Amino acid sequence: MSPETKPILNVGRLVKRFGGFTALDGLTFHVVPGEILGLVGPNGSGKTTAINVVSGLYAPDGGDVTFDGAAIGGVASHKLVHRGINRTFQVPKPFMSLSVRENVEVAAAYGNATASPASIDALLEEYRLIEIAGRPAADLNSAQQKMLDLTRALATAPRLLLLDELAAGLNPAELDWIAERIKALAAKGMAIIVVEHLMGFIEHITDRVIVMNAGREIFEGKLAEAVKQPQVIEVFLGGEHAV
Ligand code: ADP
Ligand code: MG
Repeated sequence: MSPETKPILNVGRLVKRFGGFTALDGLTFHVVPGEILGLVGPNGSGKTTAINVVSGLYAPDGGDVTFDGAAIGGVASHKLVHRGINRTFQVPKPFMSLSVRENVEVAAAYGNATASPASIDALLEEYRLIEIAGRPAADLNSAQQKMLDLTRALATAPRLLLLDELAAGLNPAELDWIAERIKALAAKGMAIIVVEHLMGFIEHITDRVIVMNAGREIFEGKLAEAVKQPQVIEVFLGGEHAV
């Protein structure tokens, strides 16, 4: 399915400060339904902060966040989950003493999603957690915790899904598999923002990327074009991540 053209999310001149430090310094971007947008940039460039503000974990200090035509800057995460925004965490934080299935059930109950027990089972099956659904989340390895975090987010039926380094730590076969899953979600109309350092993965799954540096956008377009831009090359070669 080709992406629709009307953005579901518009972020305009977004500012976020931590004390005297400006983590987001006028960030502007949009994403349309069915699109996979990559957010790339060196460590500390503000990618996670952008996700934290859009998902309602932090209130912005300036600028606008518009979801589905409504201003949502400063609206709390749990309300945004009800409106159709959910995210995964760079470091997943499941309820460790609850089972895998209970973690997803809590999310489904907490979101107002229509997820029935059957669809929770289908999610657990799809994300390869069904065999370990009865085990406490504390028993999972890091790749399984990432899949649980994704399943938890999907159980609330988001229309905008924010993935913060979901693929980090997955092996090549797992990367191919999760790339197909993410593309399938977008093909059903979900808008997806992917933060990732693995450029091959980003190139494979994104329609478009925003390259960030020091809290602002320095490039917007195809990754193949991004890597030809001197300002992008400088930012990456000056940091620890080679493009
Ligand atoms: P990225 O995800 O691109 O690596 P982050 O958004 O996590 O970057 O961080 C951007 C900058 O903001 C970093 O310098 C980081 O130390 C700072 N920062 C992020 N969150 C906080 C916070 N809660 N308190 C203080 N500083 C923060
Ligand atoms: Mg981050």
